[in-house]
Amino acid sequence: MSSYETDQSELFKKSQPVTSVYGMDRSTRRGFLTQSALLAGAISSGFSVVSGQEKSQAAKSAAPSIPLIDTHQHLWDLKTQNLPWLKGSPEVLNHTYWLKEYAAATEGLNVIKAVYMEVDIDPAQQVMEADTLLEICQAKKTPTVAAVISGRPDSEGFAAYIRKYAGKPEIRGVRQVLHGESTEKGYCLRPQFVKSMSLLGELGLSYDLCMRPGELSDGVALAKKCPGTMFIVDHCGNADPGAFLAKPSAPLPHDPKQWKSDIQALAACSNVICKISGIIASAPKDIPFAESLAPVVNHCLDSFGPDRVVFGGDWPVCLLGGSFKDWVMALRTIIADRPVMDQEKLLHRNAQRLYRLPA
Ligand SMILES: [Zn+2]
Repeated sequence: MSSYETDQSELFKKSQPVTSVYGMDRSTRRGFLTQSALLAGAISSGFSVVSGQEKSQAAKSAAPSIPLIDTHQHLWDLKTQNLPWLKGSPEVLNHTYWLKEYAAATEGLNVIKAVYMEVDIDPAQQVMEADTLLEICQAKKTPTVAAVISGRPDSEGFAAYIRKYAGKPEIRGVRQVLHGESTEKGYCLRPQFVKSMSLLGELGLSYDLCMRPGELSDGVALAKKCPGTMFIVDHCGNADPGAFLAKPSAPLPHDPKQWKSDIQALAACSNVICKISGIIASAPKDIPFAESLAPVVNHCLDSFGPDRVVFGGDWPVCLLGGSFKDWVMALRTIIADRPVMDQEKLLHRNAQRLYRLPA
């Protein structure tokens, strides 16, 4: 089972109305404008050209001390929550992973804030899930400061559902994973779905695109239909690192050339950002992570530029391939030659700005 299939728990919905970056206004119109402005400002620069000496300096400074904002934190409590997709999933995922476990998994890694990511819970428990996360965020006792919640944008009831949460500053966006077996290609382009995506933009909420790597062109089409909504491409477009090796997996898990061009097409949409996350779950076991994951990470960073990429842990789903620490150490190695400011943007600065997190 591939990691992205396993991670189908990531369906969602919800969002949050907007507080502008400066907390000025929560009207939907303001939210729309704020989101657009944030993105417009993000696309102006590319990775800067630096000398070899500066690169060397950057590498030395790529200290593990650069703080992390984890934009993809899962939590599930199997005593109270039903995640249908876990049935049949590897044993390592069939445990309760809650705040205590997250603290242990990230110990010493300088995670300063986290954004919860919905877990494809039984739809009957979506409201409970969202309300629980609101409580966690509002308690301010853990790194979890905001949440992306579950939802079903293709349903007529979505608008009423999401409007209930749109005024909560802790709710930042919605996700329904699109790679489940029952979700057909083109699902996110259905009229009701598109309408819901436009509503999210008006409410200042984002949508996480978690889809099969061969179907990213649907994401491009959706982003163009809803230019006022911020879309976040989860897990580097769910690329399989095995497709990019010097001796790629056979048969190829997906077409690497198509993925590359589709990522570039997504990056060409100014309302799309890329979450660098998730890919360790399907990393080959016999190659150092930094080596096997570099082609995917670097293509995403180079395509989206330094201002439209964010870091995500994807814990505990990452455990299918390696620990949270394995992922962080591999990523720090991969980006060590990039300018320190670009590393900071990826690891925390962009998340702080784009998710409008509390200081
Ligand atoms: Zn995930």
